Amino acid sequence: MAVATTFTTVSPGDSSVVGEFPVMSTDEVLAVVDRARLAASWWAEQPFDERKRRLYRFKAILAQGSDELADLVHREGGKPVDDALLEIILSIEHTGWAAKNYQRVLGRRRVWPGLLTVNQDARKEYEPLGVVGVIGPWNYPVFTPIGSIAYAIAAGNAVVFKPSEYTTAVGKWLVDALSEVFPEQPVVQLVTGQGATGAALASSGVNKISFTGSTATGRKVMAAAAENLTPVVLELGGKDAVLVDRDANLDKAAQAVVFGAFSNGGQTCVGVERVYVHEEVYHEFLDILATKTRALSPGSVADASYGPMTMPTQVEVVRRHVADALDRGAEPVVGGLESVGDRLIQPILLTKAPEDSAAILEETFGPTVVVNPVRNMEEAIDRANSTRYGLAASVFSGSRRTLEDTARRLRVGMVSMNSWVMYAGVPGLPWGGVGESGFGRIHGAEGLREFARTKATVRERFGLPIALTSFERHPKTGELVNKTMRFLHGHAK
Ligand code: NDP
Repeated sequence: MAVATTFTTVSPGDSSVVGEFPVMSTDEVLAVVDRARLAASWWAEQPFDERKRRLYRFKAILAQGSDELADLVHREGGKPVDDALLEIILSIEHTGWAAKNYQRVLGRRRVWPGLLTVNQDARKEYEPLGVVGVIGPWNYPVFTPIGSIAYAIAAGNAVVFKPSEYTTAVGKWLVDALSEVFPEQPVVQLVTGQGATGAALASSGVNKISFTGSTATGRKVMAAAAENLTPVVLELGGKDAVLVDRDANLDKAAQAVVFGAFSNGGQTCVGVERVYVHEEVYHEFLDILATKTRALSPGSVADASYGPMTMPTQVEVVRRHVADALDRGAEPVVGGLESVGDRLIQPILLTKAPEDSAAILEETFGPTVVVNPVRNMEEAIDRANSTRYGLAASVFSGSRRTLEDTARRLRVGMVSMNSWVMYAGVPGLPWGGVGESGFGRIHGAEGLREFARTKATVRERFGLPIALTSFERHPKTGELVNKTMRFLHGHAK
């Protein structure tokens, strides 16, 4: 059987070809990684200040090219142009944050040495890792990889980026822009292909893999990376819940749910898939939500509420989840199985789906949402915490105490109170999940340090009369130190 040497990306809207790219073999990926190693050494040697200049330049290219890039995201991935612009704006913000903050976060710093070692100048510093492999999904083809790429560059690394086979033209646009920023060396390079190309990168021996994608693929990436003990940061799937208390602003909560569930056709890792509403306001909330849901107009035009499904195979997952929920007693409020078209799925709002149905437990990744009533917030928290995922959640309440208490008890990496997804707009906040939503953090200070190696150093500033770590120490030294420690620490306060 002949092996395809190229592949094309196709617009979900009108099936037109957007781009054609090589399917890169393992050897080709390894050659790119080799070049990246040289580029990484060069970049790590550049003055610390230089990182800011390059990232600002990249930010400017993103801002100047935002219309062109948004149009490409729309054509290749199917999402409306405004949604594409939103992820580009967020990416500009994040790049700016990384540029402004890496010196503060990664700069060399002093550490108090402690009494026993008071003569030491103790420091920690954050060195670049070398080459970071970034593997990205198709659903946010700009925002998701930039959350790793900009921060990895800011930490002094070179990057090899494998975009999704569905959004490779967008990935190429980003890497071309970064090549303008680094004309001297290939600090950021592209590898193209399908899963096998990603697998080759995961097992290539790069210094870190930052993977964003499904939990199933995340497992494979981690197993491949383990061969070389390559560390990984995994940003995986989710099954995010919104919790609505009886004193919440219901209109605001419904507005957030309708956008969180249906924007981007529900193809959002932190998209709203489940809603738990206090039974006292359940009917009122469901009415408001149903009205807002019916007002949506999905389609392929640039200003539709959301577009067709990017990945054809996801349509079957949505159909299966909706069918299973309905078979097992869920009630359709807006739409139903008939809403699932060939590529475009009309909005589906279900209620009273059993808590052990696929629509509650598995990532649906489509324009569907389930609203279930609960007796109180205790029950809402229990149910929200009952999937294997733990990416993010939202809480709506009129009480700050309830909001904060609930946020604390949710087993997730991110919580939005009285809003949806606002943590994504704050570049200083870390992003990541728990459980099967992954581990490690991108964005913020944690995101910068994720791409750095911490080094500890001590420099003797003066000799001490009491040398503990020497065979030449005085026989009484141990006893003296022990007595001093007992005097200082032997009393519980
Ligand atoms: P996939 O897991 O299918 O693919 C992700 C990336 O991995 C793609 O580039 C893919 O390439 C590549 N890949 C596939 N197989 C392998 C392999 N064996 N080794 C290495 N790489 C491989 O995810 P999707 O692209 O479908 O993205 C949707 C998923 O991403 C959802 O589960 C969503 O929740 C999650 N996601 C998580 C986010 C988070 O921050 N937690 C953010 C955004 C999305 P190819 O496409 O060519 O097959």
